[in-house]
Amino acid sequence: MANIKPCSKRPVLTPCTLAGLNYQVDPYIGCEHYCYYCYALNQAETDWREEIHIHEDITRQLESELATIAPQTIYMGWQTDSYQPCEAEYRQTRQVLELMLKKGFSASILTKSDLVLRDTDLLQKMNRASVSFSVAFNDDRTRCLFEANTVDNEKRIEALRELKRAGVRTAALLCPVIPYLTDAIQLIELLAPCTEVIWIYGLGIDDRSGRNWLYMHKILNREFPGLLEPIASAVFSKEHDFWAQLRGDLVRLKNDRQLNLNIRL
Ligand code: SF4
Repeated sequence: MANIKPCSKRPVLTPCTLAGLNYQVDPYIGCEHYCYYCYALNQAETDWREEIHIHEDITRQLESELATIAPQTIYMGWQTDSYQPCEAEYRQTRQVLELMLKKGFSASILTKSDLVLRDTDLLQKMNRASVSFSVAFNDDRTRCLFEANTVDNEKRIEALRELKRAGVRTAALLCPVIPYLTDAIQLIELLAPCTEVIWIYGLGIDDRSGRNWLYMHKILNREFPGLLEPIASAVFSKEHDFWAQLRGDLVRLKNDRQLNLNIRL
């Protein structure tokens, strides 16, 4: 586990740019999952494999920040995974949810970890809380190349099923679709029976000098050298034929099977 240290004073509640959500909470600064494609790596203040920061007395600080806004749904999962491994011990997320529930707020959580099941009791009591799981890889060996510290697809899918059974709203994100590596159709077949909606996002990287692309380049060059150039040309051009072809395939699948797919490629 990374070293956990208190961060310098900063807001816990911050503005959220996602549609329909005004605010977000990141209970940690940094993420032990350390997915090599993660956009947040480019702004990381520390090496998250070594050091993760927490807000000291997160409950007291968040309580005063929540007092300034009306009860509403708060997003959790923007720059960190609220259920990364250290949450089992540090319980920052659990404290946030307990406070939000007490004050009449609800949560919309994006995670890759089945540790979220621990907090089902709180989520059930909130008004329309939701949990989304993201999945990007078809096999475990490939997942471990890009996000070795996450749990496997089977655990995520079982967690989706359990949350659904418990009456918590769920969604799945097929994210990121890595061109020529992710078999999106196969993952949709896997996810569709256990969630009501699937959002699909392609790998988007803006800057070839960003930390995430440098990591991706290194892994692809080592493990899939023949795919490096095709992947790079699609990743840096949303006009690339790969995306048009995949969009077409997904629209056909959505219509033929009446699936609730939100295609954001
Ligand atoms: S789980 Fe999310 S926030 Fe954490 S490293 Fe992976 S993509 Fe980034």
